[in-house]
Amino acid sequence: MTAPLIDPFARAIRYLRVSVTDRCDFRCVYCMSENMSFLPKADLLTLEELDRLCSAFVALGVQKLRVTGGEPLVRRGILSFFRAMARHLDSGALQELTLTTNGSQLARYAAELADCGVRRVNVSLDTLDPTKFAAITRWGRLDQVLDGIAAAQVAGLRVKINTVALKGVNEDELFALTDWCAREGHDLTFIEVMPMGDLGGPDRLDQYWPLRDLRARLAERFTLTDLDERSAGPARYVQVAETGQKIGFITPLSHNFCESCNRVRLTCTGELYMCLGQEDMADLRAPLRASADDAVVQAAIRAAIARKPKGHDFDYSRQRVAGQMTRHMSHTGG
Ligand code: SAM
Repeated sequence: MTAPLIDPFARAIRYLRVSVTDRCDFRCVYCMSENMSFLPKADLLTLEELDRLCSAFVALGVQKLRVTGGEPLVRRGILSFFRAMARHLDSGALQELTLTTNGSQLARYAAELADCGVRRVNVSLDTLDPTKFAAITRWGRLDQVLDGIAAAQVAGLRVKINTVALKGVNEDELFALTDWCAREGHDLTFIEVMPMGDLGGPDRLDQYWPLRDLRARLAERFTLTDLDERSAGPARYVQVAETGQKIGFITPLSHNFCESCNRVRLTCTGELYMCLGQEDMADLRAPLRASADDAVVQAAIRAAIARKPKGHDFDYSRQRVAGQMTRHMSHTGG
């Protein structure tokens, strides 16, 4: 039996978030500029390489795999990757296979995802207003996403809505979104917006709505009780007495829970980031392409995990560039 991945601070690495593409069919103003240039195809891991690499992590004890992007469901043939990962669910090695999506392709894929063993899906949705939705996503249509969410429900997938809190944009929808999620039976998590540098849209700092303030607004109408779910990752949760809902808050730039961090993040080019808040990464594509021997890949993964830092701290005053986003998103369900 292979020894599990343990980092220098005795944390077992059980959670891998893998980005399968840098492309997206939306251009959310806080995430991408309208004219993005994407990576050349040769730089991307093929679906077979993603399978090999993720399987190596599973062999080393990763039990939870979250697939993300870009938009994971726009990657051609992506269902074959989910199908491949389903074998690790069947064997019991993997406990959860899940994804974070903008929902645009869910109407098409929800049933097949469920068939692959996916039980839960995070859908990003910032507004229930079609005009605002079009403005935020630039290229998206609200109907399509709502249809996708409905299809996910029909397929038996549990839906968690991730909403980026945007001052002056969806501030007035706080209760509409909360009520809608309660009615539909969706979990709901708010994400604090991160400054991303100039993406050609509105100034992020103008839209910064601290979750502290959002929470205080919620508390004006609801009775909120803190839940102590520290193992659940970077979100903090409250229970809403009036609706029975659980609401999460993610402040991506804070360094909550580093001490129990069991996560690493793999980009679509095979770079492994051991901590979202630090630049250090390991290139796993080179060993993967250099050798057909999985032992070589596993050794590279172990060497990387041996460099996982204790934690991180962010400097809010520093504007960060878009290229760094994918890493930060590991705290946001992205
Ligand atoms: N396309 C998928 C989706 O929409 O969920 C997965 C990738 S997306 C980058 C993951 C999450 O990151 C989404 O919930 C998105 O709203 C969030 N996100 C992107 N840019 C952000 C920013 N500047 N601040 C906070 N959250 C952001």
